Amino acid sequence: MRIVVIGGGAAGIGAAGAARQTARDAEVVVFTEYEDVGYSPCGIPYVHSGEIDEFEDLFLQDKQFYRDQGIDVRYETVVTRIDLDRREVRLHSGDAVGFDRLVIATGFEYETPDVPGNHLHGLHYPKNIRRSAEFDKVLDEAKVAVVTDATPLGVEMAGALAKRGLETHLVDPHPWLLSQVADPDIMQPAEASLEELGVTLHLRTTVEAFVGEERVHAVRTSDGELPTDVVVLCPPKRANNRLAREAGLQIGSTGGLVVDARMATSSPGVFAAGEAIEVPQDGTGIPVQGLTGSHAYSQGKVAGTNAAGGGGAYEPVNVPWGLVVGKWSVGGAGFGEKLATALRIPHVMGVGEGISRARYYPGFKKVRVKLLADPRTHAVIGGQLVGGEGIKERADFLAMAVKKRITVEDLAWMENVYAPPIGALVEPLAIGAQGLLAELETA
Ligand SMILES: Cc1cc2nc3c(=O)[nH]c(=O)nc-3n(C[C@H](O)[C@H](O)[C@H](O)COP(=O)(O)OP(=O)(O)OC[C@H]3O[C@@H](n4cnc5c(N)ncnc54)[C@H](O)[C@@H]3O)c2cc1C
Repeated sequence: MRIVVIGGGAAGIGAAGAARQTARDAEVVVFTEYEDVGYSPCGIPYVHSGEIDEFEDLFLQDKQFYRDQGIDVRYETVVTRIDLDRREVRLHSGDAVGFDRLVIATGFEYETPDVPGNHLHGLHYPKNIRRSAEFDKVLDEAKVAVVTDATPLGVEMAGALAKRGLETHLVDPHPWLLSQVADPDIMQPAEASLEELGVTLHLRTTVEAFVGEERVHAVRTSDGELPTDVVVLCPPKRANNRLAREAGLQIGSTGGLVVDARMATSSPGVFAAGEAIEVPQDGTGIPVQGLTGSHAYSQGKVAGTNAAGGGGAYEPVNVPWGLVVGKWSVGGAGFGEKLATALRIPHVMGVGEGISRARYYPGFKKVRVKLLADPRTHAVIGGQLVGGEGIKERADFLAMAVKKRITVEDLAWMENVYAPPIGALVEPLAIGAQGLLAELETA
């Protein structure tokens, strides 16, 4: 049996590894248009900032590792077509490679801004590690940077470039940072902190053109021109599904490939995973797409296992998320206020503020918690957090609480660790839930 995987990102590599483990005799071939696999793009902003020494540190495995595993990775090899009738993929060289099972893990692409000058030198889209390493050398000579779009990556990149000492501008058309994900009140302290770090925010501002002859030297915005040496573009991502679309596979409302819980597409023997697909949100069943590297890897594992004849299932998601913005971390899971309101999901909301360590222990940080619950069942349906530390663990916990339909009462009177250097007497999540209980009582 030959299992072909298109894509060498988190989903593709997860799929290849799982396929290899499930069917020891199968031939596993991975095609990637890039020079490398097995690295984490998530660390790229932190190499630019100097917090991680070098790009090589982001590699999880070297090329020999995959050879030793019996995974045949074909680097710099573009798949140009999927032929489902002949059960083969076509390569840019003109060669065709047959498959018994196929996993599509073609990931995401950025929406290129449709404005003049979008082809100029000096515009950089963070994705491929080699291009980022080249761009890092350009940054050595740069003094000013403009980052477009306050997406999670845009916010991380802006913070990273400011830390590196560049005069950094972040331009976004929305009124607050991370507006696709986070609520404005959660982002407020984080915004102030990003500004303290040296990032000038240009919110409610659209990019109208990139200005320059061959190389960009300014960004024209709705609020004037920003002279710059480099531009980092972090626009919203979309599923990279040209091959799947042309092959006639079913594409969903988000633009992601439609898969079932086995990660099987609409064509027998063809699986898909990662940013190329959409999956149902827990509770509502609404399809969501463009999740995280961790989701891509887990979905890849399920797709690879099933492609190799095993039995794996992927469950609807509650999407825990989080990132560092200046001196704060923000995060959440399930529904925030903005999303629940937009989707007209009935909810009651409560807030509370606690601390990350005992109040007498040096360095304790505030943790602000905002929770949402179903007014009828009192089940927690999501929440968001901002604080100095411990946000990631609380976002993960919150995702599990939503998944398991934990009630506000459960959370309000939860047990918690009290150890002065790592935990306060009362857990901030419980304080948030007690705030929510009070709201429910008066609702
Ligand atoms: C700079 C950066 C920082 C990020 N930070 C975080 C973070 O902190 N946390 C987090 O969870 N996520 C983060 N992400 C997102 C995360 O990296 C993605 O969710 C994850 O990479 C998705 O994996 P994927 O395999 O679905 O797609 P991709 O990583 O996009 O991989 C797609 C693969 O498909 C290949 N491919 C596509 N088309 C073809 C073709 N026609 N022929 C051959 N090969 C093809 C590409 O070469 C590539 O190997 C970050 C991403 C970037 C770029």
